Amino acid sequence: MTFSSMWRDLTPVGRDARSGGYSRFAWTREDDTLRQWFAAEAQRRGLDLTVDRVGNQWAWWGDPDAALAAGRPGIVTGSHLDSVPDGGAFDGPLGVVSAFAALDALRDSGFEPDRPIGVVNFVDEEGARFGVACAGSRILTGAMTADRARSLADADGTSMAEALTAAGRDPHELGPDSETVRRVGTFVELHVEQGRHLSTLDTDTPVAVGSDIWPHGRWRLRTLGEANHAGTTRLEDRDDAMLGFAAAVIAARRAAEEHGCVATVGKVAVTPGGVNAIPSEVTGWLDARGADEDAVRRVVADVTDVVDEFGGLVVEDSWTASTPFDPGLARRIATRLGGIPVIGTGAGHDAGILANAGVPSAMLFVRNPTGVSHSPEEFATSEDCLAGVEALTTVLTDLAGAHA
Ligand SMILES: [Zn+2]
Repeated sequence: MTFSSMWRDLTPVGRDARSGGYSRFAWTREDDTLRQWFAAEAQRRGLDLTVDRVGNQWAWWGDPDAALAAGRPGIVTGSHLDSVPDGGAFDGPLGVVSAFAALDALRDSGFEPDRPIGVVNFVDEEGARFGVACAGSRILTGAMTADRARSLADADGTSMAEALTAAGRDPHELGPDSETVRRVGTFVELHVEQGRHLSTLDTDTPVAVGSDIWPHGRWRLRTLGEANHAGTTRLEDRDDAMLGFAAAVIAARRAAEEHGCVATVGKVAVTPGGVNAIPSEVTGWLDARGADEDAVRRVVADVTDVVDEFGGLVVEDSWTASTPFDPGLARRIATRLGGIPVIGTGAGHDAGILANAGVPSAMLFVRNPTGVSHSPEEFATSEDCLAGVEALTTVLTDLAGAHA
């Protein structure tokens, strides 16, 4: 099977004819179709398919347990097949299809691996249905408890436990699976770039290696005022909560520019929320990320100063420190691929969850000419996708080869 025929098979699954975007959520009919596709690709190649306690699918070339016992744990590559609402075709599937294509290339070349090679499909990476991103790898590694996962509910009020049951799985099986994690000696995830770093370089460079996942967090901003009539209240008599909030949003943008970060206020709640009422309270969420932890903190401090000035409040909802990928592994891969760039990313990935669980992990990014992601406009050229497969093949040769 070639890259293009696998890509063609996946193209119609969960596609909205109008927008061209994808809706492929965990444990839905679309997800089931994708899981069947994965199983069929494994079977076609004579790989051993296993499904762990969480539902992640693993297709092995070679026996991972025998190799582990011999001190040569496997090399795993792959990604996810689910999507955000109205997502692009590449985020996730590119990594899974490239994994199978790279495995084919290795076999066609007569390569005999010294370590088993696995292809993985992580379930529920985007968290589009139940709200927690990387749920498959989080539960697998124990970063999220099975109890919490089972109780998460989708927009219709269906819990993950109910969704699992409906998909023919036993929700009580859910839980950390150290036996599965131990088999993964090294994990390499290929992913479409979600940004424009590669396309802005002077040189023609279709692939980069990941260095780390940026530190990121969410903060709740709250400003207070007094509700009153929008027509009869004189400007000098107003206490308008929106003014302080608006100043904070502008401050976030300015601070992000100044400190080399990104900042977004994408969700706002206004009280009382009437067109003809002066706002008495505004709550909004700031998402701030950047390569440097201190710089992100400075953005939040600048925004806090402005909110303070207006008598408001800033509360930290979540904070994730920088997740570095194995630096030695990243260097080795970059060198093996001819000195390609090593870049950070502001997006979360299963590879980051595995890295946090102590699995040596790496990422390869394939150039995205517009940088757009989580949108039907997400794109990579077929030449660049094939360059990604070639890079992954080289990396697997290196990591699973006899000299490794
Ligand atoms: Zn992804």
